[in-house]
Parts: sequence; C-alpha cells; structure tokens
Amino acid sequence: MSVNYAAGLSPYADKGVCGLPESFDSPEDLKAKVENIAQLIKESQYLVVHTGAGISTSAGIPDFRGPKGVWTLEQKGESPHFDTTFEDARPSLTHMALLGLQRAGYLKYLISQNVDGLHVRSGFPRDKLSELHGNMFVEECEKCGRQYVREKVIGVMGLKPTGRYCEVVRSRGLRACRGKLISTILDWEDALPDRDLNRADDASRRADLALTLGTSMQIKPSGDLPLLTKRKGGKVVIVNLQPTKHDKHAHIRIHGYVDDVMKQLMELLGLEIPKWEGPTICESSTGLSENAGDVKPPHNVSAKGEVKKDEIKQERKREGPQLPEDGSVKHETVSVKRERADFSLETNEEK
Ligand SMILES: [Zn+2]
Repeated sequence: MSVNYAAGLSPYADKGVCGLPESFDSPEDLKAKVENIAQLIKESQYLVVHTGAGISTSAGIPDFRGPKGVWTLEQKGESPHFDTTFEDARPSLTHMALLGLQRAGYLKYLISQNVDGLHVRSGFPRDKLSELHGNMFVEECEKCGRQYVREKVIGVMGLKPTGRYCEVVRSRGLRACRGKLISTILDWEDALPDRDLNRADDASRRADLALTLGTSMQIKPSGDLPLLTKRKGGKVVIVNLQPTKHDKHAHIRIHGYVDDVMKQLMELLGLEIPKWEGPTICESSTGLSENAGDVKPPHNVSAKGEVKKDEIKQERKREGPQLPEDGSVKHETVSVKRERADFSLETNEEK
C-alpha cells in the first residue's frame, strides 16, 4: 500500500528557506568543537536535545530543506529520493547515541520535530520525549487521549480518524471507551499537541544546555524553543550543515554530519552507543512498560503489536498545562507552520 505523507493535508505555500548550501568544518575544527561540547555536557545539570529531519537522512529518509530535501526539489519540479520505507528505516547512529546519552543520565529531555517515529522505535523512553509534529506510527483516542503505538504506519494524516476505536476499559464499568482514534500527524495549521508542547516548553526553560541536531529551526514554535534556554541563562549548541535561523545565538556552532559529531562525542564521554535490535518501544524511563500483556523492564520491550500506555495518561483535553512557576505561557492557541511532505512511501504489506 502506498502511503502518501501529504494525503489529506492542505496545500501550503510558505515552506521557508530551502536549498541553502551546506558547509563543513575542517576535521581539526570539528574535533576541537566536539571536545568543547563534551565538556559542556559534563558540566551541565539539565541537557535538552532538539532534533530535526537532518538526523534521519542517514537512515534513508530525505530532509525538507537540504540540497536534496523534499521542498528544495519540489521548487525545482523534482521528486525526492528514498532509500527506505518508514517501517524498514533503522535508527541512525545519532538516534542510538541519544538513547545512550539518556541512559547515562546526561540527556534529560528530547524534543523532536520528526514524524518518522525513529526516536520511539529506537527505544527512547516516551516520557522523556516530545514529538511536536506527531508520529507516523501513533494514533490517539480523541475522547480519552490514550495513544497507541503501532508497528505499521497509521496511513492517515492531519489528525483525521483512522477508522479504529479506543479499547480502553472504563474503570467503573465493563464498556470500552470506543472513542475514535485519530492520526497524530499535524496538518499545517493544526495546533501542537498540548502535553508534548508543555513538556517541551518546561524542559527548555529548565535546561542549562540546549543541543540542536539537524534542524534549521525555521518552524515555529518548535524552532524557537532553544531560545527559551538561552533566555534563562543556558547555552545553545547548534549542529547543522546548512545555516540555521538561530546561528547568532549559538555558543558553539558546528557544520558537520550529526552522526560524525555524535560518534566523537560518545567516545569523549566514554559512552557506548547502544546497538539497535529491531523496533523497541519504551514507555517510561523509570517504571515498567506494558506490552501486550507482558511486563518487561524498560529499555528492552520489543514492539509486538500495540503498546498501551498505562503510566502516562494522555488526557490532553483535560490535563491543565504544566506551566513554569512564572506561569507565563499558554499554548492552546499556537498554530504550527508545519513541514509538509509530498512523497509516497511503500509499506511492507498490503492491508
Ligand atoms: Zn479512549
């Protein structure tokens, strides 16, 4: 079955700045900068990482605004090249290194604009992750907010019904919730998911170090979150081949491949990069995860069928925003100028 990422999404003209030339630091410069980052990470109390499409290009998924990005090619009337499907894509070295950083206690929170699901499938704990633009593999009950992580892409975009229904059993009855399940992928003008955005906002304010990987930070509000860290006195480190919107705010600015940077960084920190052993879903960084009736330790729960969320209730309609102590921001009305992709993907099976 062909799954078109743009199916059901409205047309949108403003794709931002596309196709800027990439530049590369010399190997010596790169090494010196990564040594600086390693030191900053060791000294940090609360590291937050922000990821964009640039961390998935080595997994075979094209980015949006790079020289061969989806929008860059669209402007030339060309189609992007895919080396894989979402279901077959393997997490990149960077995805796995981030999992290693989290397990080692350095990385406190991860914020991603990516919809490819690779952070979740890498086994990164979902309670330490905000996916601000949705996830191709996740559908959500519009009634109770329960999320279901599937093995196959949902195949529906723009928060539209997927045709399935919620199976949550109500606590004081035998009836299932039966709410409509909807796609979590945002259309251009959809508001960001409250829970994920509030957590990302809190983490960004709390962070003393923000590391951005493979994002040009042109999409609001996601791209502006690292600035919250800087405003609170923290440092911003940017790794991206092309210029980004916030280069002038960077304490360190690296032009290099994210996988090269993360490989060197992990060596300097003396950390192993975990091996990927197939799609792995971890709901909670502390408690136990539930998986199709089996209770297994976190970090090693294989994705057989859906993983139900018991520890994190996603009652996004009822849950009040977790505002910081200065109580400043509400996001209910924030719209995202979202990245849109026209490319088609083949799934593994006919459905
Ligand atoms: Zn429900």
